[in-house]
Amino acid sequence: MKLGCPTEIKPQEFRVGMTPNAAHEAVQHGHEVLIQAGAGMGAGFTDDDYTAAGARLAGTAEEVFAAADMIVKVKEPQSAERKMLREGQVLFTYLHLAPDPEQTKDLLASGATCIAYETVTDARGGLPLLAPMSEVAGRLAPQSGAWALQKANGGSGVLMGGVPGVRPANVVIVGGGVVGTAAARVAAGMGANVTVLDRSIPRLSYLDDVFMGRLTTQYSDQHSLATLLPTADMVIGAVLIPGAAAPKLISREQLSLMQPGSVLVDVAIDQGGCFETSKATTHQDPIYDVDGIIHYCVANMPGAVARTSTIALGNATMPFMLALADKGWRQACEDDPHLLNGLNVHAGKLTYYAVGKALGIDV
Ligand code: NAD
Repeated sequence: MKLGCPTEIKPQEFRVGMTPNAAHEAVQHGHEVLIQAGAGMGAGFTDDDYTAAGARLAGTAEEVFAAADMIVKVKEPQSAERKMLREGQVLFTYLHLAPDPEQTKDLLASGATCIAYETVTDARGGLPLLAPMSEVAGRLAPQSGAWALQKANGGSGVLMGGVPGVRPANVVIVGGGVVGTAAARVAAGMGANVTVLDRSIPRLSYLDDVFMGRLTTQYSDQHSLATLLPTADMVIGAVLIPGAAAPKLISREQLSLMQPGSVLVDVAIDQGGCFETSKATTHQDPIYDVDGIIHYCVANMPGAVARTSTIALGNATMPFMLALADKGWRQACEDDPHLLNGLNVHAGKLTYYAVGKALGIDV
């Protein structure tokens, strides 16, 4: 099979879909790999690294899309990329279709087979291709939020760890999954007071066990969250209902419960965001103010640490990418129901229930 990997074109996205190691594995499996020249630069991989791994270089994204049977990327295809997809071609990347009707319409029109990283599952009910990026985004969230709390950035001027005699920041994390747990680890490490809310009791007991008193857990309902807002310096949104748009957990009206200069970090923004006032931002322009509350809503947080993220993502996607290339998408999905769960669009039809439900399209 011919595998193609174009340069990411989403603003400030420095990751790349295939590492030189992944390219090398694919070549060892008898496939051709075409990488757009310069695609790995943002993650610290040179064109020479790829040619040494056995890949060929292409001058433009057009060449990559025209030649490849399967496109391997990181972020959802942007409008210009969607125009280059064709019937029968396989697209393997993050899609996040539920909050994105425009992209969904274009992918349906392309006739391509689109497999979304974020809905591939594993035997323990986890999301193995979302998890590595969630680990990264979760670790970044308190770091970015701490920066936003600084006075020069519009924040209240509270230091995460406080100092002797001055209380540390109160950090509330909504959603105690992979993002939430990673965020809790870093926020606690920075010395903040951490409270994690979740709707899963087993998850809350797990957190209670592993953090051994270093954080407080609380069941997530509207009242619990509302009572925490007046003292929260930072709220990190880390909820997920797989494949569906994120539920809105803090309304605009409730912002008035918070202290001026407090910070909302909406990691769930790639699923539409879990605060009513969230709108996606970029690394170039990451924060904005609504009613005195600073919002950080970068939709591709892991792009900020592109090297770590690219290697972590490549490690996770490689076995699936090889299965798709070795067997063809149909056989690979027949053999692995977890990979089949990644199938969101095929030949003009939506094939993922939660996306159809969110967008009102028949599946
Ligand atoms: P996860 O499935 O591991 O965890 C989600 C948790 O949310 C689960 O424990 C679930 O029980 C909980 N939850 C669901 N509804 C809830 C509610 N109403 N209140 C409290 N908890 C609730 O998912 P994850 O991997 O941690 O991902 C979380 C979000 O972060 C997703 O939307 C994901 O797409 C997003 N994400 C964003 C970026 C970014 O760059 N912005 C990067 C990675 C992941």
